[in-house]
Parts: sequence; structure tokens; C-alpha cells
Amino acid sequence: MKKLLFLILFKIVALSGHVYPAPAGVSPFASNGTYAFTNVSVIPMDRKRILRNRTVIVRDGVITKITKSKKMPKGAIVIDGTGKYLLPGFIDMHTHLFSDYEFPDSLAEDELKIMVANGVTTTRLMIGVPEHLELRARSAAGEILAPTIYAASPQFAGRSFGDIYNGYVVANEKQARESVRKAKAAGYDFIKLTFWISRTVYDAVIDEAGKNNIRVIGHVDAQVGIDRVFETGQQIEHLDGYFEALIPKSSGSKISTSGVNVWNPKVWESIDLLDETKIPELAEKSVKANPYSVPTLTFLKLAFGVGQTDREIASRPDYRFLPKRIRDEMAGPRNAFWSKARNPGEKRRMRYVELRNKITKALHDAGGKILAGSDAPEWFLLYGFTLHRELESLSQAGLSNYAVLESTTRNPAEFFGAIDKFGTVEKGKRADLVLLESNPLANIANTKKIAGVMVKGNWLPKDEIDKMLDEIAPKFQTAFDK
Ligand SMILES: [Zn+2]
Repeated sequence: MKKLLFLILFKIVALSGHVYPAPAGVSPFASNGTYAFTNVSVIPMDRKRILRNRTVIVRDGVITKITKSKKMPKGAIVIDGTGKYLLPGFIDMHTHLFSDYEFPDSLAEDELKIMVANGVTTTRLMIGVPEHLELRARSAAGEILAPTIYAASPQFAGRSFGDIYNGYVVANEKQARESVRKAKAAGYDFIKLTFWISRTVYDAVIDEAGKNNIRVIGHVDAQVGIDRVFETGQQIEHLDGYFEALIPKSSGSKISTSGVNVWNPKVWESIDLLDETKIPELAEKSVKANPYSVPTLTFLKLAFGVGQTDREIASRPDYRFLPKRIRDEMAGPRNAFWSKARNPGEKRRMRYVELRNKITKALHDAGGKILAGSDAPEWFLLYGFTLHRELESLSQAGLSNYAVLESTTRNPAEFFGAIDKFGTVEKGKRADLVLLESNPLANIANTKKIAGVMVKGNWLPKDEIDKMLDEIAPKFQTAFDK
């Protein structure tokens, strides 16, 4: 019944394009009220600078003034920013929700709240379900406390797989074209490609997506190859296809660890062949084709590179949101990969991490725009928390702290074509803001020291955030209790 309702609703949403009529429900998070951040250091992200001792005025969800004046507008709620740093809200470019498949839909809002608690004010959900379109509309209307949502389509894959497969099977040109039109009509923001995509299907998807004015993002199938993807300008996730491009032609091999091939221990032998002297030229070509790249360094590093022990997992702030059933399910693939039979060995795993870092840095150095994406909640790594881990991973890959901050603020906003609306702290921008206790330009780990988050003009101080998380954790722990 509920599914049916969503279907009807999302058809209405689709018909009205992206201008959403205000839903009939209440809008407790519609932006209103006046706030003044006082005596605060602003890291605006318009260019590399810090504005000291500023007053930042927010009115009805919009930044209306950044001034040295201490004059307060009448009735303003004052937030003392002394010693603190005000930044644009963070953007996580690669996320999923447990409620996409296992959790009851009723927990989706709480999943989004965990993102907000971590300063994430915009997110791109990467494998679409109709519920995302509903959540996107409700977030935009201020009905729920949630990041601004961009929703990719259900996954396009050459065949269905797994018991939680959610997508369009695109095994031939006809299915490819129909699926693009279906995703566009439903109202999704992007076409998301995953696995087993043939060259014929790929070309059809690209052509049809062009005709329907919808961008293509996602994995790079070895059948397609990165050279073809550079021709189309698809936005690439996970650095898919780059290792394959580093294999010397003379070796005769074409497959490396991108995508599902990471599961094949034999494929890991290719790591020894990779020619890193090819990286700068590859990066140049890549940036010319499309400057935007989401490397998801943390997820792949912890899943397949350095690993994560039970003790590490249990010690993280994410842990209390992982019910036992989900932990058990996640332990399955983790233990399989790290079993004696499959484990590719430390030397190859470390080289995998090192080369992914080098490619990321090379893309940045070639003028590329790195986008921070967590791929949460994969492998015990939950939304929000893992965005901060990704920022640290990008820093470890050699990006400056300023460049790292760009990857989660202005770069994604530019990618969305929405830099005039958010992504920097400037007059007229949406009041998506994070207040930090310490300077993240001095140490990127300071992004975790959150004093408060403002999402579309709604202010959440740290104590309220903590309370909110305390209320959510038991709900998640009992998600499967009947
Ligand atoms: Zn993903």
C-alpha cells in the first residue's frame, strides 16, 4: 500500500518537473527566523581566505549579510562564534540508505538526520528508489530535517544480481533507451551505471541520455573502457577504469581491480603490472574529458586495502547505529575477501591504496575537481561519519586542506550547476552552514569538531545534535524487531 502511494506521488512530482508544489503536510523545517553568528571566523570557500571577527546574518534560510559591524537585527537568535569557524555545509557525493532495501522506509528520515548531524547539508543518493524522490521533495519543502537531496536513477546493469538488486536490467540497446527514458520521466537527476555494461548498451545509454538531457555517472565497465568514457564525458565513480589504463599493452591483459573484478584474486596479479609513469598523461586526458571525479578513497581503502578489524569497527561512533543483523550481513563479504583463499596479500593491497592515492592527486594537480564521496553505509562505514574519513583520506593522498574542503563544498555545488545557490558562504546563498570548534585549514580532522549545523536556515547546536543521535540509535538497533 505504502509503495503504491509513493508511486502515485512520484508521478505527480515527475509531471511537475523539478518545481515541487508544497506538499500538503506540515513544514516544521521550512526556513524562517533570523540568526546572527557573532565574532566568527568565516572560511567562505569563494577563494582561499579566512574572514576574521565577522557577524553573519541569516534570514529565512538565506545568508543576508557578512559584516564587521556588531549591530544585530531585531529579534535575531545570537550564536556566539568566538574562536570558531563557519564554513559552507558539507556535501557527500556518494551515499545510499539502509532503507533503500532492508530498513523500514520509516527510518529513512533518521538516516538523513545522521548525515545532518555530521554537517552534511547536501547529499547525492547513488542508487535510486522512488522513495528518494519523495524524500527529495519533502526535504525541499521543509517537511523533514534533511540534507538537500540529489537522486541518481536505479542502477543500470547488464544483468540483475543479488537479492537486493534495485535497478534496470540493460542487456541490449532497446532496454538501454527505454530505461533512460523511464528514469528521466520518473524525475531522477542522473543515470547511474554499475556493472556488466556492454559497449552497445553504453553507447545507447549515452545517446539517449543526451537526447533527454540527463547526465550519466557511475562505474566504468572493462567492456567499455576508460578511453570511450573519456569521449563521452561521463562522470566516473571510484576511479573505475584507471588501473586498467595503467596496464602495459604488451602484457596482453586488460582487466584490473575496478568494479566487481576486485573480488577475483587472480585479477589482483595485475597490480604488479601497473605502470605508474602513465598516471600524469591519464590524469590530463581525464580532466579534459570531465574534471569531476569521486574517488571514494576511504571505502575502498578500508574494504580492500588496509582492512578493518572487529575492534576498530566496534570503537567507531557509527557502531551504535548498526543492528546485529546488518553487522552479520556485512561481515559476510568482509570475511570472504579477507579469507586465506582470496586475500591478495599485503604487498598488492598496499600498492592498490598507493596508486589510488596517486591517481587522485594527479587528477587534482591536472586541474581536476575532486568530489568527496563516502559510499556510506557500505561495510560498517556510515553516512556522515565516513564523509569526514574521506576528507582525511584525500588529505593523506596529498591534497591541501583547502583543496580537501573544496571537494565537499564548492566543487560539488559547481558539479550540480548550483554554485549560485550553495557551496560557499556568501550573501544570497542558502544558509547551509557548519560551525567548527577549530580551524580545518590547520588540520583537516577538525571538520569533525562540530559546534553546530545549519541546514536550510534551521539551526542545530551540538547538544541538540547529540540528543537527536541518542534518540535514533535505539531505533536502528531494534529496526528488525517485530
Ligand atoms: Zn555506492
